[in-house]
This record gives sequence, C-alpha cells and structure tokens, in this order.
Amino acid sequence: MTDTPLNTRDASLTKAIMEKIRRVTTQPWNIMEICGGQTHAIMQYGLDQLLPPEITLIHGPGCPVCVTSLEAVEQALQIAARPEVIFTTFGDMLRVPGNKADLFTARSQGADVRVVYSPLDALKFAQANPEKQVVFFAIGFETTAPTIASTILLAEKNDIRNFSILPANVLVPPAMHAILSNPSNRVQGFLAAGHVCAVMGYHEYPPIAEQYRIPIVVTGFEPVDLAAGILMTVRQLESGQHEVANAYPRFVTREGNQTAQNIISRVFEPVDRQWRGIGRIPLSGLGLRPDYASFNAVNRFELDTTPLQESPLCIAGKVLSGVAKPFECPAFGVECTPTHPLGAPMVSAEGACAAYYRYHRTRA
Ligand code: SF4
Repeated sequence: MTDTPLNTRDASLTKAIMEKIRRVTTQPWNIMEICGGQTHAIMQYGLDQLLPPEITLIHGPGCPVCVTSLEAVEQALQIAARPEVIFTTFGDMLRVPGNKADLFTARSQGADVRVVYSPLDALKFAQANPEKQVVFFAIGFETTAPTIASTILLAEKNDIRNFSILPANVLVPPAMHAILSNPSNRVQGFLAAGHVCAVMGYHEYPPIAEQYRIPIVVTGFEPVDLAAGILMTVRQLESGQHEVANAYPRFVTREGNQTAQNIISRVFEPVDRQWRGIGRIPLSGLGLRPDYASFNAVNRFELDTTPLQESPLCIAGKVLSGVAKPFECPAFGVECTPTHPLGAPMVSAEGACAAYYRYHRTRA
C-alpha cells in the first residue's frame, strides 16, 4: 500500500490550517515572506485574505529582478550596445528600467540582446559565434548560482574565451541581517524561501534567529506549504520562541545540496553588492574568484560606473524591505503599471507591485 501524495493545493486542508492559525493567534504579528514567488502565490490563492486580521504578511526582497541594481542594468545596456557583443539575459530583465532605457528598447534599436533560459544557452551561442563576445547577465539568488558557476567551469574546460558574465547574483542571509538591523524594521518572523534552502540548506539561519530573537521557518510555495509555514511561525511567536524550523521537508534538508554549494564556492566568493532601492549590503553578492576573473565582463569592457539615482517617484526600497505596501506608493497603478513600469517590482513576475496590481490589492 502506498501513501496518498499530499495535495499541496487542497483548499479544505489550507482552510483547516488557517483555522488553526486563527485559534492560536492572540495578538498582532508581522511576518515576512522573503521570496517574491511566495508573494505571488499568497496573492493568487488569496491567503492574505484568509488569515486572521492580526497577522500581517510583509513582502521581502526575494525578487532577483527587483533587487538587481540600477548600476548593473546600466552596465548591461553599455555592454549590449557594443557591436561585437551578443548580450544574453533571462526574459524578466528585458523591461527593467535603467536610467533612461531598458534592454528591450536597446534591442529594438539594434543591440543583439537574446533571451535565454539558462547560462548554458549563452555558452552555446559563444561556441557558435566565435567572432562575437557573448555576455550572460548573471542575476538571481543562490538558486541560479550553481548553474552559472557550472557554466563558467565548462567554458574554462573547453577554453571558450569569448564567453563572460556580468556578475549580479545576491545572497539571502545578508539581506535578512540588513532588514532586521534597520531601525524601521517591523518584521517579527520570517518565512525563508524553500528553493534557496533546497540549495543552501538552513544551517546559516540559527545565528540570525538567535541574534535577533526571531523565528525563521523554511516554507514552500503552494497554499498548504505557505499556510503550514505561517502556522509554525505564529506558534513560535505566541510562545516566545525563536527557532529555525522546516515546513518544507519534502525538498529541504538542514545541509542542503552540498554539490551545488561546492560548485558555487569554487567559482564565486562573497562581495559587497548594491541592491536596487535598498543600497549596499556588505558581503551580499557573489563575485568571481581571482582564478575566474577573466570571465568577468566588467574586466573585459570599458564601462562607465558612475553611481546613479533611482526615480524619485519609486519607493521600491521601502516595498522590498517591508516598510511599505505597494499601494502606499503614490505612483502605484497611476504613473506605474506593468505596461509602463517605473520600478523593477512592477516589471518582474516575482515583484510585489506586479502581484498587487495583478490581484487587485489596492488597500490594506
Ligand atoms: S508601484 Fe512602481 S513606482 Fe511604486 S514602488 Fe512599485 S515599482 Fe516603484
């Protein structure tokens, strides 16, 4: 006899867990889901509307497109404009506004910008076009880093020297430190992103939970997973605990995927990185180790790296750090819509502003 597989979209199970949350909740709590994919699932399934009014979900910075810095987008535009370059990127980055333009506009003006689903596709372009420089825009959290690192190793092994990356990967734990140490922080519990933890495990989180006395619960992306993660967080908050717990054991272990972690640390090392709308966070990015510096597009092309100013209308930094909800932005749904985005959170499939717009969350 086999176990019946868990239906993680089971509406009655989700509602039953919500009822448990209602029963254990005695006071207001603010819980941040770190990942933009979780934000969209919460909106899509209306989980925010099923929770008791005491529970406020705050949306975190876990949207890789949203946090890629304005400076990185400008460097991408400068590189893509060069006639010898094929610039490759995930599709989400095409419409992210730079200072004056975006990669979509650059492509319409003649730049060779190609959408890829993996850095390995970019490497194939490099092999097929030896007269060109092929650059991959390396964005994302710890989830995309193993494939990017593997691609670099493959390029080195096969001596493909016309391939490089524009490094922009970011790391979750330093962002959690930045949020929790911000004087305007409201977060009292975290739902940690299940897919990041599938790679990295959750052994990095106990010192954070201990330092800030905050529960951190590894959580998945389906309604039952999210409801279970919220319940485990609320139970801890109500009983004054601050432990790291795993509500996503189907895919996550404490140690994570060691092979992936080894590949990341062979190619990359932690570096300070600028987060769009948030600012510079120490050791929050992945930079290429000196042995692989020749694959860094920043070293290959002469680039203007002047610091840039975000649009004064966009409050993405406040949205991404949980200080403001998207509808509190005066531009939300007015000057800023998915067809005319002013900021990255309105562009990305994982952006909080896009989720609020799509699922009509226009007030608290
Ligand atoms: S609604 Fe638009 S302008 Fe406002 S914070 Fe979101 S992306 Fe920025």
